[in-house]
Amino acid sequence: MPGIDASANDQRPTTMLKAVRGTRDLLPPETALWNFVEAAVRDVFRAYNFHEIRTPIFEETQLFSRAVGEETDVVSKEMYTWEDRTRAESEKGQSLTLRPENTAGVVRAYIEHKLWDRGLNKLYYIGPQFRRERPQKGRYRQFYQIGAEMLGPATAGSESPARDAEILELLATLLDRLGIENWTLELNSIGCANDRAKYNEALRKALEPVAAKMCADCQRRAVTNPLRVFDCKVPEDQPIIEELPRISQYLDEPCRKHFEQVQEILNAVGVAVHVNDRLVRGLDYYTRTAFEFTHGALGAQNAILGGGRYDGLSEMLGGPSAPGIGFAIGEDRLVLALKENAEAVQPKPDVYIAPLGAGMDREAARLARELRRHDLIAELGDETFRLKKSFEVASKLGARFILIVGENEVKAGAFALKNLESGEQVSVARAELARKIQAGH
Ligand code: AMP
Repeated sequence: MPGIDASANDQRPTTMLKAVRGTRDLLPPETALWNFVEAAVRDVFRAYNFHEIRTPIFEETQLFSRAVGEETDVVSKEMYTWEDRTRAESEKGQSLTLRPENTAGVVRAYIEHKLWDRGLNKLYYIGPQFRRERPQKGRYRQFYQIGAEMLGPATAGSESPARDAEILELLATLLDRLGIENWTLELNSIGCANDRAKYNEALRKALEPVAAKMCADCQRRAVTNPLRVFDCKVPEDQPIIEELPRISQYLDEPCRKHFEQVQEILNAVGVAVHVNDRLVRGLDYYTRTAFEFTHGALGAQNAILGGGRYDGLSEMLGGPSAPGIGFAIGEDRLVLALKENAEAVQPKPDVYIAPLGAGMDREAARLARELRRHDLIAELGDETFRLKKSFEVASKLGARFILIVGENEVKAGAFALKNLESGEQVSVARAELARKIQAGH
């Protein structure tokens, strides 16, 4: 391949290759926790009538610069972007980007496939996202999000505060169901485009005399997109930011009412809310409701999920009006929060099949095939193992039973089955094996 010098590689045969910084391998038994989370999440989505969508991992760069916003950290600093080296003339030099988030892709798909024909769309996704952030505990360059979007024409009720409340109540249910305790729902309204224009103006004015004392990013934001000043993490800037006007003072009557109604429904269903009028969220497409759920045990990266309403996003991407609301949960952080208090959920083998002596691999394979068809988890040994070794391997794996498959057993059609927890050993006819192992649960 052009650009790759194979001989140079050959000269360094001992160089150990590692996963790229900010990416990681998810290994068992932790993957069992990931599967547990995803299965629970799918169950909850089902109860709320959400359906899965899978969009591509990479998209045209302009999808993100238009939707997420040029001035956001995500677009200005963190995207993995490249110029495609395709041969097709029409696509030459096309700028592509690994998705840093999935809402833009879902709304692009909504427009491309005219999903408004279905009324209100309730879609969810589970998958990797990519941001070139400084890695630390709970922050990765390839991370996973579980997200949902509810969008459609206003005539389908998509603008209603009842939808915001439904999404937030779903999230509370989901976290409770996973056994995540001590979460806080931080809620704010960042108004509509009109409010935002007035608020931006007020922010710009308030920033004018103080911007010079702030970090370089804030000095730029003060001019280009003052709202983004709230994303600033520089400690010296915080006292200045604390004094800035709040969006809550600039909401118009319909936005104020919408926000109130969201809170009233949440109150009625018993979901506790912490109103935080500094919460503006790091992506440009949000309108009205903005929220985050935080979790105490996660340290600095304590936002377990974030989301909000994005009533103008479809139009920004060339589609029809499609008010909507959605969220993205950081699955890595969800698993991290669970690891603190959850038992390992990795299933253990029901039975370890120990072939004993030459020719027994064949018999063991036949038995494994039969038992696995009965939904049992079977692990296969090897005919070269001595019995002592088979016992050692079986107990290391945490198998419940060991099944001895020797020449005598095969001839007799009955096998020695030992319960490794109780130590009880019985001889079981072939036809009875599956039932006997199942009964031992
Ligand atoms: P955002 O798309 O920025 O609203 O993020 C939604 C959620 O995704 C956050 O609350 C985090 O839980 C998670 N998240 C965002 N960026 C990262 C990252 N670099 N590593 C791990 N999780 C992340």
